[in-house]
Amino acid sequence: MSEELLINISPMESRVAVLDNGILGEIYIERHHKLGLVGNIYLGTVVRVLPGMQAAFVDIGQSRTAFLHVNDMQREPRPVAEKNKAAKATKHEINEDDATTNAAADSLAVTPPIVSAQSTEIVPASKTLIQHRLHESQRILVQVTKDQLGSKGARLTTNISLPSRYLVYLPSSDHIGISQRIDGEEERSRLKTELSSLMQTVNLKGGLIARTAAERVPVDKLEEDIYYLLQLWRTICARRQEINHHQSSELIYQELSLPLRSIRDLVHADTEKVIIDNTQIYEQVRYFAKEFVPFVYDRIVHYTAEQSLFDVHRVEDDLRDALKRRVDLKSGGYLIIDQTEAMTTIDVNTGSFVGGRSLEDTVYKTNLEATHAIARQLRLRNLGGIIILDFIDMLEQQHKDDVLESLQAQLTQDYAKTKITQVSELGLVEMTRKRTRESLGQQLCEPCSTCQGRGFVKTAETVCFEIFREIMRCARTYNSPKKFTVVAHAAVIDLLLTTESDTVADLEYLL
Ligand SMILES: [Zn+2]
Repeated sequence: MSEELLINISPMESRVAVLDNGILGEIYIERHHKLGLVGNIYLGTVVRVLPGMQAAFVDIGQSRTAFLHVNDMQREPRPVAEKNKAAKATKHEINEDDATTNAAADSLAVTPPIVSAQSTEIVPASKTLIQHRLHESQRILVQVTKDQLGSKGARLTTNISLPSRYLVYLPSSDHIGISQRIDGEEERSRLKTELSSLMQTVNLKGGLIARTAAERVPVDKLEEDIYYLLQLWRTICARRQEINHHQSSELIYQELSLPLRSIRDLVHADTEKVIIDNTQIYEQVRYFAKEFVPFVYDRIVHYTAEQSLFDVHRVEDDLRDALKRRVDLKSGGYLIIDQTEAMTTIDVNTGSFVGGRSLEDTVYKTNLEATHAIARQLRLRNLGGIIILDFIDMLEQQHKDDVLESLQAQLTQDYAKTKITQVSELGLVEMTRKRTRESLGQQLCEPCSTCQGRGFVKTAETVCFEIFREIMRCARTYNSPKKFTVVAHAAVIDLLLTTESDTVADLEYLL
């Protein structure tokens, strides 16, 4: 499969389109006034501890306070020196401040110097309770794992993770993990062995995960990544020390901008071209690629033609279609995609039947075609969470199995983790897709103010009757005023003067 990356920069936003064989597969949009926070690391301030929810609100300098659950907090710091001392000491003497100093002395310690310190009164058994680990106005190093969505504040973790091209560094873990998408025991164990020996060589403490891109990557490339991460983590620890006495919550590490992130994460051997329509970003990306992703350096192209980059590649059209409810299939069938707060439903429909073939056959072919369209739309719209698929009913078991198998095969192309959980008695396919960012719809749209997001507007008759009720309510409340002025849409006025003129007359009489 040939892939191209188009990077479109305007003063308002950066957009990255991934084209698979010339067709838009994924789109990433970053609005400059509203940069996503995921991946950012802050020195935050605990605003409130909620023992009932085992969570805390943490100020990270955003409009809404962010949310930290105890499950997203790293385990208690137990450096080796500390463990030995703890063994000898009575439990009241275990002082977490010591642990903090230890960690700070070695900026690459297992635990960054972050946690807790209600210190001396704590007995170890209760340490996992959030009220024993955090207190109001405490300073704490946190990373955003989910952007604020709707009315919910951003979600935080104290388990910091720093991605590079091939690896993810986890300062507070001691585990070496391999992406599940890397197959083959041999390759997995090679990565494991090489990573743990590299960590020892450069004296990097903590855990590492080999990302999918690490598959069959030579050891010197992995080493470069480890050095980069080592350097990055040192900088973060130093910055944390430097601003520890400041009053306000502060950003310590900002995730790379979208164009650079896409070079780090989206580019691979099959990427034929990266086309960028902005000189400054082009230079930035080239510089970054030279440092971290050299193989793509020569494939980066500066686009300077008159016509807009996204128009030339029909991205604007596909983007417009990706916001519609209805997706047409080539066979004449179509999908209806509805996203609600709780879930997304996708309904498959046959169009008008074309003669000759049997109904079952038409249905079967439409469903098969739909599996491709569904997988594509999930990716393109970045729909996450619970997804319910309503295929058209089929009679033959073999057809049902084929459709499910085809869906499964299409979903494996997805970079996001998906899982078909079950086929219900009614034939609904229930699945999940991992959600990290807002969906395209959430990012670009808002509920319709006319219908309050219902997708329907009231009929003129309904509005008429509301006006009548409102007139009666006013008459009761304000003791029969002499005159009402009704301002309404022309269709409503029409109705008032024609079909409903009797009711208007009745009201005049009644009031
Ligand atoms: Zn509406």
